[in-house]
Amino acid sequence: MINLSLRELQQCLHKKQISVAELASVYLDRCHQYNPILNALVHIDADIKPDYLLAAQVSQGPLAGIPIIHKDLFSTQGVTTTAGSKMLANYVPPFNATVVSQLNQAGMVQLAKANMDEFAMGSSNEYSAFGAVKNPWDLQRVPGGSSGGSAAAVAARLAPVATASDTGGSIRQPAALCGVTGIKPSYGRVSRYGMVAFASSLDQGGVMAVSADDCALVLTAMMGHDAKDSTSIAADKWTWQAPEDASMKGLKVGVIPDWLEQLEDQDIKQSTLAALDTLVAQGAELVDVDLPHADLAVAAYYILAPAEASANLARFDGIRFGQQSDGKSDDVNDMYRKNRSAGFGAEVQRRIMLGTWALSSGYYDDYYCRAQRIRRLISEDFKQAFSQVDVMAVPVSPEVAFKHGTKSDGVSMYQADQFTIPASLAGLPCLSMPIQPARNLPVGLQLIGPYFNEQVILTTAAKYQLVTDYHQHMPEAFL
Ligand code: GLN
Repeated sequence: MINLSLRELQQCLHKKQISVAELASVYLDRCHQYNPILNALVHIDADIKPDYLLAAQVSQGPLAGIPIIHKDLFSTQGVTTTAGSKMLANYVPPFNATVVSQLNQAGMVQLAKANMDEFAMGSSNEYSAFGAVKNPWDLQRVPGGSSGGSAAAVAARLAPVATASDTGGSIRQPAALCGVTGIKPSYGRVSRYGMVAFASSLDQGGVMAVSADDCALVLTAMMGHDAKDSTSIAADKWTWQAPEDASMKGLKVGVIPDWLEQLEDQDIKQSTLAALDTLVAQGAELVDVDLPHADLAVAAYYILAPAEASANLARFDGIRFGQQSDGKSDDVNDMYRKNRSAGFGAEVQRRIMLGTWALSSGYYDDYYCRAQRIRRLISEDFKQAFSQVDVMAVPVSPEVAFKHGTKSDGVSMYQADQFTIPASLAGLPCLSMPIQPARNLPVGLQLIGPYFNEQVILTTAAKYQLVTDYHQHMPEAFL
């Protein structure tokens, strides 16, 4: 059962080979069995809620009865939503995020909430207040972050699909490190309403699953304009048609020679080149492109994202939102300080300080405004590149999953995002799909599309997955 695609699962349900409740139990049992090893989940439903069974019956769509796990920054009505933070350890939202209610309406069955780096800040999932997540391919290694819980959960098939979010790489990097397919749609494509905010001009909800086809089926149910999110864009929804053959004739694929050269890990380089060869074998044409300002992306992002985070997180003071610390306070400022010191982890505090400083008068022009200008230049670079190509194919992560505790300073962790941040700054749709592993560890290839064109990256990935089976590899211990 756990090896089936969403379409195959749907067939089984349709033909009554398995009931919605039985299918959910198969995965719930796996959640209970494997989560003590992986720590990928922060909450598992005790049993299947009758509401979901009913919705699955009512909905005739392709997702009716399909189990799902939500990253713990999507608000789920009546179910604790922590965003990986002690600050929100007891927060039970009275409402659902738009993404959650849309997927509920499509008949999906919610099983659990996925662990994550605190407030989605991190690339290893070691910054969760609820403990680090382990990579199912090697328990000594990280699953990537911040959506490491979602990625580990799908890799170990605790559910066939999970929601996730990506601000600077948090869907693509953990998808790559755990060997699953993950898509971050264009900024504005999916409602952010009810997602705990990190950096609002970059945050975007998306999905991880085994294949591009599975991702597309779920994404089409998640996306669309939402009046409750002022940055959600009213554009035509597209419908998904899985490609029937793998021909990429006429497809111009942009590659960045500079980025390939930056890959120090020769095995990752080999895998990436082999994946590009596969695209060529299907008829695609590789075209060299350049993003001249992309090497400034990490520096700009780590000004802009903390700046927005410092504003978004100001509300967590223990009075308006968040937990109060125990101790007695001398005055109101002392109380804020105590609540925020106790509720936020070290990385979150570091970002708040960095962001507040970058926005303070005297530094605002030098740092924040300059970073915004770099962001604009990077967007222009992409526009120029997409005047020559249909899609870009580049690395996701410079490394395979690294061992827990090996990146203890902030900056080396930040550098892990060098290939994912540029597309985030430009708001472009991008995905990571599994390619040839390196030393038995998963490697991803990143496909980036023009703004609001998710179809081209999903179709290219789905075609690649018609002629390869890397996306179906599973970690042996979880078969
Ligand atoms: N690793 C990046 C950061 O720490 C990206 C996180 C994300 O995309 N949410 O900010």
